[in-house]
Amino acid sequence: MTIASVLNLVRPNVAALTPYSSARDEFTSDAKIFLDANENPYNWAFNRYPDPYQKKLKEAISEWRGVDKQHIFIGNGSDEIIDLLIRAFCEPKVDNILTVRPSYGMYKVSADINEVQIKYHNLDEKFELDFDSLLACVDTQTKILFLCSPNNPSGNCISIENLSYICQSFNGLVVVDEAYIDFAATPSMVSKLKEFPNLIILQTLSKAMGAAGIRLGVAFMHTEIVTILNKIKPPYNVNSATQEIAIDIISDMENIDGQIQQIKTERTSLFQFLDTLNFVEEVFPSEANFILVRVKDVFKLYDFLLSQGIVARNRDKEFRCQGCIRFTIGTPEENEQLKQSLLLFQQQN
Ligand SMILES: *Cc1c(COP(=O)(O)O)cnc(C)c1O
Repeated sequence: MTIASVLNLVRPNVAALTPYSSARDEFTSDAKIFLDANENPYNWAFNRYPDPYQKKLKEAISEWRGVDKQHIFIGNGSDEIIDLLIRAFCEPKVDNILTVRPSYGMYKVSADINEVQIKYHNLDEKFELDFDSLLACVDTQTKILFLCSPNNPSGNCISIENLSYICQSFNGLVVVDEAYIDFAATPSMVSKLKEFPNLIILQTLSKAMGAAGIRLGVAFMHTEIVTILNKIKPPYNVNSATQEIAIDIISDMENIDGQIQQIKTERTSLFQFLDTLNFVEEVFPSEANFILVRVKDVFKLYDFLLSQGIVARNRDKEFRCQGCIRFTIGTPEENEQLKQSLLLFQQQN
């Protein structure tokens, strides 16, 4: 796709929109006295509105991920970016989005809120994707394809080659949700950004970066799509405290790199342990910081773990996940307690 044909997919009302112009939009150079935004003049860390385009933070992210800053869009969590993409490109009751089952639940919630139809391609028993039958689900109103890699809740990845094939074959936006990419051996799609104007990559500070509480989602995309999202986002969607904390986190990755290594080591250990339990039917290989497991009596196990003070995620009701429970990898101490509780459950059943 060319960027011109991507821009043709934007909703006409969004393309024609005159965005809200904030005080910080209209005046961006330096001044001594700011009397333009009705702020309280008494200075402390947060008396001023935040930078609506998060310039400093984008510079930090640009250096960290090796992506030019014009290609970066930042949201109040990646959940906000999912919603903005649907609102920018999908006409309610007319257009649709396509994703796979099982996958992350927010694509459907955002589609439902916006009255945009969601279509599904079903993953196979191993949670693998059949590309040609995925592409066969596309119709003339399919504007966005959401793919999560590593996938939540299964933990497996889609290769760069296969994602590239999809970007080439689909005449719409391909959103690759890389919330868990820092735990994965499969590389990020960021290297393909220049090649595919219809590719959008979502990342977040909520998982590996250990900052779910500050709400910061990052997306990489063609600069013309950044411009579209800037038109429709709430002007001050990312607050000053979040911007500052995010810069601090990104500037000091050593600590986090160590944590990621530890989590991956623990993932291997838990995987091997789960495989030895007699009530475990299948352990799904994971490139994320969680493991999905199929067990004999998932409701009984879930309740037992709760009685031990451990909360896991029962995924039984998800498509193809009957009998499955998902464990996030915790600290070595937490994982040890989980293992002890699982052993106890085995003994008692
Ligand atoms: C947790 C998660 C997110 C994170 O969303 P934020 O709004 O950035 O916290 C996004 N996508 C997937 C698949 C996730 O599991």
